[in-house]
This record gives sequence, C-alpha cells and structure tokens, in this order.
Amino acid sequence: MKRPNIVILGAGFGGLITAVNLQKTLSAGDANITLINKHDYHYQTTWLHEPAAGTMKPEQARIYINDVVNPSRVKFVKGIVDRVDTTAKQVLLADGSTVEYDYVVFALGGIPETFGIPGLKENAMTISSLNSVRKIKEHIEYSFAQYKTNGSADRSYVTIVVGGAGFTGIEFLGELVNRVPELCKQYDVPREAVRIVNIEAAPTVLPGFDPELTTYAQKWLERNGVEMKLGNGIKGVEPGVVTFGPLQGDTTETIEANTILWTGGVSGSPIVEKSGFEAVRNRVMVEADNRAPGHDNVFIIGDCSAVMDPVSNRPYPPTAQIATQQAHNVAKNIAALINGKSTSKFTYESKGTVASLGHNDGIGIVMGKKIFGRNASFMKKVIDNKHFIELKKYGLVLKKGKF
Ligand code: FAD
Repeated sequence: MKRPNIVILGAGFGGLITAVNLQKTLSAGDANITLINKHDYHYQTTWLHEPAAGTMKPEQARIYINDVVNPSRVKFVKGIVDRVDTTAKQVLLADGSTVEYDYVVFALGGIPETFGIPGLKENAMTISSLNSVRKIKEHIEYSFAQYKTNGSADRSYVTIVVGGAGFTGIEFLGELVNRVPELCKQYDVPREAVRIVNIEAAPTVLPGFDPELTTYAQKWLERNGVEMKLGNGIKGVEPGVVTFGPLQGDTTETIEANTILWTGGVSGSPIVEKSGFEAVRNRVMVEADNRAPGHDNVFIIGDCSAVMDPVSNRPYPPTAQIATQQAHNVAKNIAALINGKSTSKFTYESKGTVASLGHNDGIGIVMGKKIFGRNASFMKKVIDNKHFIELKKYGLVLKKGKF
C-alpha cells in the first residue's frame, strides 16, 4: 500500500512540534513526512521583542530546522507556500513547484493586523520575523545617532511610539526601557530627551487580564519613563507622525516620532483565505479535532485557527501555548487516522500566562496564582526554556536558554 504523504506548512511553534511528534510516533514505513517553511530555521516568535529592542542577539532566537528534526524521517523543503489546492490535494509553492499530500497541517502563523488605520501599514514597523526585528533594532540605533547630526538636537529622532499595550507591546516596552540607558550613553543623548509613548485604545494595559496585574504593569512602565496614552486609538500615521485620540469624538493629538511600532493585533496567514477556507481575519474556526470544517484531511492550528473558549464563548487569543497543544493533538490524530482509528477531541488547558517587564520583572498567573516581580521573571524564563524540552532538544537549553 502507498505510504500517505503528510505535509506540514510552517515550522513555527505549531508546525515544528507537529513534525517532532510525528517523527516520534510514526515509523518510516507508516508515512512520508514533509515540512515546508520559508526559512531553513525556526525562530522563537515569543522572544522577538528582545532582539527588537536590542537586548538579545537575533541569533539566540533562531534554531536551524535540521538541528531539531531527523532529516531521515522528515523531509525539509525550504519554500514559500503560495496556496493549497484542496481539490487536487496539492500545496503550491511560490517557485511554481507543487507538493502532493494526503494530510496537510496548516501552521503558517499570522501577520500584523492594522484594522484599516490609514498609513499604519506603510509607516509603522512590526515585530513579525527575525529580519523585521533586526530592522527595528538598527532603525532605533540609527535614529539615536541622528539626534544631533544637524547641529541642533532634534527630539523626534529619539521619540518612540508603540501602538498597542497587549503582551507584545508591553514586553517590547519593558525591554526598551532596559536598553535606553545604554543607547543614551553610546550615542551621547540625554535620557530626558528620549520620549517613549504607548498608545492603547482600551482603558488599561493588557486588556482583559487581571486588574491587579495590569495596574502593576502600568505603574512599572510609568515609573520607567513610558508615557501611557490609554483609552486612545491611533487614527492615522504619516512618515514620522502619529495622530491619535479617544475613539469617540474628533479630538486628536499628534506626536512626531522617528520610530513608530505597531503591536496592536494579528490575523492569520493570508494563505488561509487564498486557499478557499472560510475564515474571519484568516482564522478558521476548526472542528473539535482541529480539522478544517468539511475537510477530512486538512488540519489547521496556531494563529491560522480559532478555537472556541466555552467559558467566554469567544475564541481563545492566539498564543504559542495553544499552538503547541494543538500540535500535540494533531500529531496524535494523524497517526490515529493512518492506523485506521478515530481522532480525539482537542481541549485547551491554560497553564497560565506570564509577561516579562524587562529582564528582572514581570507579571502573571500560574496555576491560578498571581505572581509579580522577580518570581514572574523567573517563571517567564522557565516557560521560554520549556519549548526546547517540547522539541526534545535538551542541549538547546544550555546553548540558547535564558537564565
Ligand atoms: P508561528 O510560530 O508564527 O510560525 C509560523 C511559521 O510559518 C514561521 O516559521 C514562518 O516563517 C512560516 N511561514 C509563514 N508564512 C509562510 C509561507 N507562506 N510559506 C512558508 N512558510 C511560512 N504566545 C505565548 O503563548 N506566550 C508569549 O509569551 C508570547 N509572546 C509573544 C511575543 C511576541 C513579540 C510575539 C510577536 C508573539 C508572542 N506570542 C506569545 C504569540 C505566539 O508567538 C504565536 O501565537 C505563535 O508563534 C503562533 O504559532 P504558529 O505555529 O501558529 O505560528
């Protein structure tokens, strides 16, 4: 009998864990496994705020795929997925080649969502890949270098506006305030000239999170010199200028800033809708076993999927934690189908949420308990290192881990 082809799209949190689990569960005679990713490395998306601020080398967040998967069990294809043809059961790559599948796992992650805010997409940078964070770091450094180059000092060069106070925005700000003293020293900029502004439409940081923890995070940021503009939405961005104001009404203010960063939202990969799946913001509401509705051989996980939270009756926010748990379920389900068994239902179990505030502080809820400060910071590092354990690469904890 022909061995089925399992094709995994994307080597992020969801895709890589699926591949590693399948190579463990299935034997070489059971199936052919192919992993397709646009780079020959995986990056720790959850760490990207650190290289963006310049507090970590980008290479620390990078893991080569062939160091994680067994090349004799998983065929790695470096390529850009253009779309999936579910009728022909083919993945079409941007270079014109095709890959046939019997089972496909969609794990292509997300892209920044700018909600149609005029000029935001064109004029703001986003934390979305290893190269995007290299660009942010270098842009900030070059801006600091320009502060005095025209004879008189120009504060707009050292003004940084961050749109969004969700986890990505808060964690980036935490790293940035850690980095600013070094930047000031290096580029001879007085600390009081540097302006860091956070604009968030909700009335609190980390909307929806525990009020005591959000208050802690807000106070920490204010104490470290971040101007918080809560309850304000970005209304438009032009090169070097952000216009913002309360969501109701026409009152607006502007800030001249050479660095503008948007962290306010993600949607799923555009390949989802391009491949004909019904989705909201490129996120497919998946069946109980992570399959796409109406497609017995298509699994969708991570930022491309939506899983309903039975408590809030809204989809869970897209996180690495849910992508990883879905990956375990999907690997099990594909192995079950190949062995003629039925699939099992996916149930998300939140292990808690922790956000860093710079290197030594943070907030979070772990096993139902609130944690702050150094305890939260320690816990965040434990969680970050846990991914290497999930990948079954214990040596990477020593090589790339956080301590
Ligand atoms: P990803 O991990 O993004 O992987 C997608 C992969 O697909 C990438 O390798 C990409 O290169 C590849 N790809 C994309 N398009 C193509 C294409 N067309 N062809 C080929 N390959 C392609 N979540 C948490 O749980 N905890 C956190 O603390 C946390 N912190 C975060 C901090 C930051 C700064 C950011 C940006 C996100 C954070 N998240 C966090 C969210 C988390 O990173 C994502 O939810 C998670 O990475 C989603 O996993 P995924 O497998 O769907 O996609």
